[in-house]
Amino acid sequence: MAPNPTTHPNRSERPAPSRSVRRTARPSDAEPSSTDLEAKARLVHDRLCAVYGCPIGYFHDLDPLSELVSSLLSHRTRNADSGRAFKALRQRFPDWGELIAADTAEVESLIHGVRWPEQKAPRIQAILKGVRERAGRLDLQFLAGMEPAEARAWLEELPGVGPKTSAAVLSFSTLRMPALPVDSHHHRVAIRLGLIAPDLAVGPSHPVLRAQLPADWSAQDLYDNHEVLMLHGQKVCYHRRPACERCTLADICPSAFKVS
Ligand code: SF4
Repeated sequence: MAPNPTTHPNRSERPAPSRSVRRTARPSDAEPSSTDLEAKARLVHDRLCAVYGCPIGYFHDLDPLSELVSSLLSHRTRNADSGRAFKALRQRFPDWGELIAADTAEVESLIHGVRWPEQKAPRIQAILKGVRERAGRLDLQFLAGMEPAEARAWLEELPGVGPKTSAAVLSFSTLRMPALPVDSHHHRVAIRLGLIAPDLAVGPSHPVLRAQLPADWSAQDLYDNHEVLMLHGQKVCYHRRPACERCTLADICPSAFKVS
């Protein structure tokens, strides 16, 4: 998709909704075209950035291997709980190689506050072992020399690493590479807005949502897009009873005032 030089990189610009964008907002209309969806994705981004204040500051400053561990812990877990588990692992195993060799029961007990610790403990050990075997050392800094798609493919060859984790490693770690993670809030808001089909799962939604945004967007732009959609899901577009009456997207949202 061609970049839109009229609005990039000035993310604070808020273009008026075009006719095509308004047309996608009506569920009775035919399937929106990809051009309609790209325009709508940009409008959503610009409006939410105006509300939540882009650029958004990065919340992590971890090396990519540590970010991988952190991302694996965070699946379906509150940030505070996964943060505590990560800190406990880091204190007990200052070198991730020690975690590979540790008793799995001990790892499970250190991360007991996260969801499914009995699955995550052996998975983290296996993934770290896989990194060491394939990369020749416990370090993912070499991903910086790859194209984002290549780096993500490398990560996704590790058992148990999917698109959300690979995007998180590239985007949230000190690699600061362009990638769009999609979490459950982001995914829910995208469905309600009609950006993706209701039956498209989180994993397959990654390439679809990324393709709606300009190909030349920076790491910060994509991080902002993920963050503002996630924040909107947390603060306004709740899982139950979304606050449509104070939503900046209500006039372009086909689900406005329809979700209970
Ligand atoms: S209008 Fe309502 S359903 Fe649509 S994005 Fe806003 S809060 Fe969510």
